Amino acid sequence: PVLLELRDLTFGYDKQAPVLQGLSFSVRRGEMLCIAGRNGAGKSTVSKLICGFYRPSAGSILLNGRDLAADTIKERAEHIGFVMQNPNHMISMTLIYDEVALGLKLRGFAEEEIRGRVHKVLQICGLYEFREWPVSALSYGQKKRVTIASILVLEPEVLLLDEPTAGQDYRHYNEIMEFLRGLGSTGITVIMITHDMHLMLEYAERTIVLAEGRKLADARPEVILTDRDIVGSANLKETSLFA
Ligand code: ADP
Ligand code: MG
Ligand code: MG
Repeated sequence: PVLLELRDLTFGYDKQAPVLQGLSFSVRRGEMLCIAGRNGAGKSTVSKLICGFYRPSAGSILLNGRDLAADTIKERAEHIGFVMQNPNHMISMTLIYDEVALGLKLRGFAEEEIRGRVHKVLQICGLYEFREWPVSALSYGQKKRVTIASILVLEPEVLLLDEPTAGQDYRHYNEIMEFLRGLGSTGITVIMITHDMHLMLEYAERTIVLAEGRKLADARPEVILTDRDIVGSANLKETSLFA
């Protein structure tokens, strides 16, 4: 079944320069999908439209067959967890535990339920030992994991991650990706914006490549990554995968 559908999405930050030009694609429930494309192709813009930060000038976004046009950012966030490209709480003195618990507190969950969920997610994200630390004391990669943890704890239907593994060390990269893969079997849908060819091949069932606001390709990662024209257009870097 289709979970998320983008229909003929058109958008520009200003009238002169369209960023998305009739973009359509759909995502099935439980799918792990990558969105790729060179810098400036519109990948982050797509995620901001899905989350409602901006409105398309034409076209629509449907979740479970329902048009999201009238839904606020907050309403969409109940179903769509968005992990932004850059952690935005670099200087926060909030403790890790409280940061990750905040969303559940605001939604009125009981203390026991909160503690159980938060501890589980902190362990999965490699943050349990830091739970009493302030966010500001963490490295960039650890802050990224705090962001992911604070969204996972809300158990969204769709998890949308913009460059999820950028700045991660290898061990935590694997931990996060294995965790996301595990989530896939529970039915959550995971959309990852990435340039990482290893991530695509190892973890994604499908990759959508954007170029100039349009869909250039939509295929299994091994098909995308062995097509020289697509690899060139998406500016995917040559790695040992091509040796
Ligand atoms: P990507 O994530 O694929 O690198 P973006 O979606 O960030 O691409 O950007 C697509 C285009 O929109 C780029 O040309 C970028 O300069 C422009 N852009 C992105 N954000 C803004 C903004 N807030 N205001 C104006 N132009 C923007
Ligand atoms: Mg970019
Ligand atoms: Mg981007």
